[in-house]
Parts: sequence; structure tokens; C-alpha cells
Amino acid sequence: MKPVILVIEDNEKNAYLVTFILEKYGYQVIQARDGESGISLAQKLKPDLILLDIQLPVMDGYAVARELMKNKDLCVIPIVAVTSYAMAGDRERILSEGCVGYIEKPINPATFMAEIEQYLPDGKKGNALRRDP
Ligand code: MN
Repeated sequence: MKPVILVIEDNEKNAYLVTFILEKYGYQVIQARDGESGISLAQKLKPDLILLDIQLPVMDGYAVARELMKNKDLCVIPIVAVTSYAMAGDRERILSEGCVGYIEKPINPATFMAEIEQYLPDGKKGNALRRDP
């Protein structure tokens, strides 16, 4: 069974790019366009990792992370924030809301997988055989 990554991202182009890369590396990707549906999908599917856009309509990524962390089943899932914010305070806030790390936009396809996979246990990493040498 492929490891599952939930991508909560309102921008279709960003979601497409991230999904393309993750699928290439052997992950099953579930997409949510807003925080509320992201949380309900997380409850239903218990993904191995959540990629969370911070700038989301209605409920921002901070609020989504806070809700996920309140749930005893979901708080164990690593959340990696994806953000175009680059201020030091934002980084601290992202981590204080329970995210294990963050990736800055625009994402760099060359380093993206290594950044994500540092937060996944060995058994939950994608299919290494499909990786470019
Ligand atoms: Mn966004």
C-alpha cells in the first residue's frame, strides 16, 4: 500500500505540481481545496503526512493545524506547512501551531522530496525504485 499524503491547498496550479511530484515518487495523494474539507478528509483517511498551505480562504492554515492538533488521532500525523511567508515570526508561529516543519513557495522540485521525507519514518517513504539515480 502506498503511503498517503493529504495536500490542503487552494491554488490549483500548486496542488497540481505538488501532486505530480509526490505521485512520481510513489505516494498516493488526496487533495483538499479548503481547511474544513481537509480536516474531514484527514479524519476519514488518516494520511501519513499532511502538506498544509497557510494562505487558505475562510480558515487559514494556522487554524487548520490547531484543529488537527486538538484531535488525539490526528495530532500524531506530521504536518508540513507550505508558505510564501518568509518572516522569522511566521516560522515560529507555524511551528508553535504544531507543524513539524515548513517549505517555502515557490517549491523547488529538486529539493522538495528530501524536505518532505525527513518527516516520514522509513517505512512510510515513497517507492525508492522509481527515483532518478
Ligand atoms: Mn493558498
